[in-house]
Amino acid sequence: MSRPLRIVVVWCGLGLLWWAWQQGLLSPSEPVEKIVAQGGPSFTDESISLVPRADVLEYEVQPGDTLEQIASRFGVSLEALVGSNANTLDGLEGVAPGTVLKIVKNGVLHAVKRGQTLTDIARTYGVALSEIIASNGLEDRGYIYPGEEFFIPGAVTSPFFIYLQMAGGKKSLFAWPLRGVISSGFGPRIHPISGEPDFHQGIDIEVPEGTDVYASCAGRVIVAGRHSGYGLYVVLEHSHGYRTLYGHLSEIGVYRGQFVEGGQRIARSGNTGNSTGLHLHFEILQYGRPLNPLALLPP
Ligand SMILES: [Zn+2]
Repeated sequence: MSRPLRIVVVWCGLGLLWWAWQQGLLSPSEPVEKIVAQGGPSFTDESISLVPRADVLEYEVQPGDTLEQIASRFGVSLEALVGSNANTLDGLEGVAPGTVLKIVKNGVLHAVKRGQTLTDIARTYGVALSEIIASNGLEDRGYIYPGEEFFIPGAVTSPFFIYLQMAGGKKSLFAWPLRGVISSGFGPRIHPISGEPDFHQGIDIEVPEGTDVYASCAGRVIVAGRHSGYGLYVVLEHSHGYRTLYGHLSEIGVYRGQFVEGGQRIARSGNTGNSTGLHLHFEILQYGRPLNPLALLPP
């Protein structure tokens, strides 16, 4: 093969690879679902029906009601009740009389966030994409709307419930990624390995190997990989220029580009990278500047 021809062939090959990558054909995960929420009518637009196929009961909270009582009265778990009312509830306690709660059996109602795909939602709840499509009559739809609610059949986990628990019971910008003893705070310190002066960009939380690590806030995975210092680590991108970083993991459960809910399990803790013991290294950054997580996390 002549040299110019070889160059053309190589460039065509690279182009093809780039195209395949763009199409998600090289992604090792399940096939990329192209249904993605991107604007369109709002949830209050009455011209479109947003009622999922599953039977949705509406219950008006009475004085003295607690979420636990309501859940047991309707035979649903507290986790599912809270998860189905993520847009209505601000916390796990003190639900105001007159509040209308949605109740579904054998699953959870999920309100779509902007940029979230059906594949993301299926992974969040650990439910097959095909089951979500079938239960909500989405076979002929090429799009979903932010704010639209879908029934997640058989969902037993509710990231919103875990999120509220990790946020101390009520909504907060950031929730704890896990709970443990803070073994090293944010700011100047002597590095535990090098012995040199150092600036610790996050906090270290001591936890046993394999402790579940939850997304501190809803967002998109921008890094899921390995780093010489952080070891196995994940970086999430949130609104308002915020990012959160989770380091020294033993296992990563998300892939780059995936949208995760606050309270969704994204990894397990470990001791990988430049680490002196079992802990999670956790950072919150805004526009690239590290902030003290303790100032932003609930007590
Ligand atoms: Zn650290």
